[in-house]
Amino acid sequence: AVESKLIDGKAVSAQVLAEVTADVAALKAEGIEPALAVVLVGEDPASQVYVRNKVLRAGEVGIRSLEHRLPATSTQDEVLALIDELNRDASVNGILVQLPLPWHINETAVLQAIDPIKDVDGFHSENVGGLSQGRDVLTPCTPAGCMRLLKQTLGDLSGKHAVVVGRSNIVGKPMAALLLAADCTVTVLHSRSKNPQALSRQADIVVAAVGRPRMIDAEWIKPGAVVIDVGINRIEEDGKSRLVGDVDFASVLPLASAITPVPGGVGPMTIALLMQNTVTAARQQHGKPTQA
Ligand code: NDP
Repeated sequence: AVESKLIDGKAVSAQVLAEVTADVAALKAEGIEPALAVVLVGEDPASQVYVRNKVLRAGEVGIRSLEHRLPATSTQDEVLALIDELNRDASVNGILVQLPLPWHINETAVLQAIDPIKDVDGFHSENVGGLSQGRDVLTPCTPAGCMRLLKQTLGDLSGKHAVVVGRSNIVGKPMAALLLAADCTVTVLHSRSKNPQALSRQADIVVAAVGRPRMIDAEWIKPGAVVIDVGINRIEEDGKSRLVGDVDFASVLPLASAITPVPGGVGPMTIALLMQNTVTAARQQHGKPTQA
């Protein structure tokens, strides 16, 4: 049955959020109120929706959120001054700068200014390096969400051959690092890879993070593989606007043993893991061990 193959990101994210809600309540009972600062520079409509959703979700799990909106005309120094203020504020546990930033602001300079222990997106080089060394650091939310779905679906991932399609800093590379840390054999494919379909057909796990609607079709998938579709692409079809993944769901579904739908797969996991990272950051800042 189709349903039995679907990896239900809504259900798993609800589970993560329930765990986070309980963790927040336990911290509050000890006098610690986890807080997340979200920084938005400019008026990009998509970014405004993302920020609103993050703030709403924080409220639902009991995390205090602080929204900082700066005009698109802000200088880099003004953004850095705000980050500095949030770094110093001991009541702020997590700092998230919504990307993309306006063109005149250096993204790397801003992300590197965030105190690594408050870097709930896991983009600071200290955390990127820590992930690659297998240290217990704040990890990018989307790949961490994919790992949760994979562990829920497969249990132990040890020895599995995982193919990650895409090598971006926010999805592909951290995804590969997490799979390696989970003892997978990892292959990373990108736009210069030769015979990508043949390589991908060897995989027990395929994670698609390409940004090309329905590129990963049946040619890429070994029968029985588990397929995680990170892609979110808006396309026009039959006169309607709709969201599709990087995986050609209809052609891959019959082959896969399990697959994430778009929407309702990886999407809902990202915000849930952001909330979890905020609690982890609060725990670490108060000298408490990170929970499993
Ligand atoms: P990027 O554009 O930063 O990276 C895309 C990667 O795909 C690049 O490494 C690129 O290779 C590779 N690629 C492009 N074309 C091909 C090809 N023909 N064959 C093999 N590889 C190819 O995208 P992101 O990683 O930021 O995002 C990927 C997708 O995930 C997007 O659809 C995005 O919307 C979605 N996304 C979803 C999130 C969620 O919450 N669910 C969060 C973040 C992203 P090269 O490096 O050689 O150029």
